[in-house]
Amino acid sequence: MQESQVQPVVLKLDPGSKVTGMALVREEQTEAGPVHHALHLAHLEHRGVQVHAAMGQRARYRRRRRSANLRYRSPRFLNRRRSKGWLPPSLRSRVGNVVNWAKRYQKWIPLTRIEIEQVKFDLHLLQNPEVSGVEYQRGDLFGWEVRSYLLEKFGRRCVYCGEANLPFELDHVQPRSRGGSDRVANLVLSCHDCNSKKGNQTVAEFGHPEIEAVAKAPLRDAAAVNATRFALVEALRSLGLSIGTWSGGRTRWNRDRFGIGKDHALDALCVGQIAGVDAGYGCMIRIIAQGRGRYGRTLVNASGFPRGYLLRQKRVKGFATGDLVRAEVPDHLKTRGIHRGRVAVRATGSFRVGTVDGINAKYCHLLQRADGYSFVVVEAGTQNTAPRPRAGTPVSSPRREEPESPQAEI
Ligand SMILES: [Zn+2]
Repeated sequence: MQESQVQPVVLKLDPGSKVTGMALVREEQTEAGPVHHALHLAHLEHRGVQVHAAMGQRARYRRRRRSANLRYRSPRFLNRRRSKGWLPPSLRSRVGNVVNWAKRYQKWIPLTRIEIEQVKFDLHLLQNPEVSGVEYQRGDLFGWEVRSYLLEKFGRRCVYCGEANLPFELDHVQPRSRGGSDRVANLVLSCHDCNSKKGNQTVAEFGHPEIEAVAKAPLRDAAAVNATRFALVEALRSLGLSIGTWSGGRTRWNRDRFGIGKDHALDALCVGQIAGVDAGYGCMIRIIAQGRGRYGRTLVNASGFPRGYLLRQKRVKGFATGDLVRAEVPDHLKTRGIHRGRVAVRATGSFRVGTVDGINAKYCHLLQRADGYSFVVVEAGTQNTAPRPRAGTPVSSPRREEPESPQAEI
């Protein structure tokens, strides 16, 4: 025990608008460089869309209230200011989700550092190709940075026909055969058909003279730096771990040369300066942000009129709506059998467990407290299109089976 060492673990993150890929890895030092072995892969699914919808709903209620009841009140001064670093609530929830999970991981395992994909492409590398090191000499990393940059610059569309969702090619404004360079100012994004049709012509000869100016436009910082990712890195600094920030071009390059499939968690695994990856057992956990209930206590019908009121207190007989419970109901009752799922509580003590209504609190046993997240285990790399399980809905099919203790997975 005296000589035992704690295995250092690195948390790697690939932040996305709907899903953030997370990977916990063990780092092995080899002659070629560090090789990352996945210990845990996870998809953290955000609820930005739900937050946005809920805030919009609240704004509409308030607007109606002000126009209906307060028509004669004088307008307020425009003295409301947003604090520095303010983010819209939907984006703040994303940052909060990731920081929350980084804190949980830090509590459970010996995290030594965090590596995160902060920018889409490395602007410094693109602007100063001559100062970049060995990797650029080989050309590969630079090529992937250029591709990432062009994808952002041209909005993932062919510049000639405007088609999206195609495999793109790099096309030269001034063809190479006629003295055109490989610099980014001479490159555009094109689909295969347009590229072969254009052949040896310049963009002007091909009938798109306007593209020349677009391609020459200088690199912009704004396209690379995303406000949410920036805020996320700042928020993660509060954990006191060292943070490595990397570009999306490097992630793509790693994914390509290691032959790793496209997946949020595997992307997270490929973030950073590494010589190899090992994706592990292929098991992954979906962590789905569910929220923690609502602040408003009035339920309304489709026209916005009150339909009923929620309880003031959250707990009833030790249970709160959203807790995962197992109910064993004796045979002489109508709801007989064993039921497992999220509970919806009522003041009377007669609960709904999953879809089964009218189960008394005394038959319920707590499996997991609602902590704002639900969990689903899936195979890595499989396309998972299963709908988000709603809080309070049953968990019946094996695919949506939830582990009784999420900690056991980590
Ligand atoms: Zn095209």
